[in-house]
Amino acid sequence: MDHQTYKSWILNDELLSGEDETQLEEHLAECRECAELKANLYTALQMVRSAPQIAAPPDFTQRFTASLAARKREEEKRQARALTLALSSSALVIAFGAILIFLPEISLISLATGCVSTLLRIFEIVQATASFVSGFVKNANPSSLVTVFVVVGGWIVLASLTLALSVWKLAIKKVGINS
Ligand SMILES: [Zn+2]
Repeated sequence: MDHQTYKSWILNDELLSGEDETQLEEHLAECRECAELKANLYTALQMVRSAPQIAAPPDFTQRFTASLAARKREEEKRQARALTLALSSSALVIAFGAILIFLPEISLISLATGCVSTLLRIFEIVQATASFVSGFVKNANPSSLVTVFVVVGGWIVLASLTLALSVWKLAIKKVGINS
């Protein structure tokens, strides 16, 4: 019989038959290694058995429950804060994304629409004016045409004079301020 068998017998001494136990006792008397193992095991078992049972303080359960509840509340608060942060940040991200995705498109569309409608309006005005002028020129007799030209020419001259006068006034004013 080798050491390993005796060692396993030492560790499981409750399962040994009377015959095996006698055999083990004989081996233990001869083998120091196995005897030491048995002694150490016995000491360890004795230490475990004789360890004093430490009673929990009377209010231990109460305090433990209270601290557990407090920790749970703290955890819930922390989770709520994390959830709020996550929700608000994701809402912010979504809003920002929506702005990025939709706003340029909207502004581009409205800008394009505005440009197109403005161009169309200008085109309409030009067309109307042209048709009016051409119609007037076609239908009017030469004398009224001359009158119109004179009136329009007079207006242009007047406007030019007014413009020149205001520019001149402005120039004078500027010189006056500078000197
Ligand atoms: Zn042995």
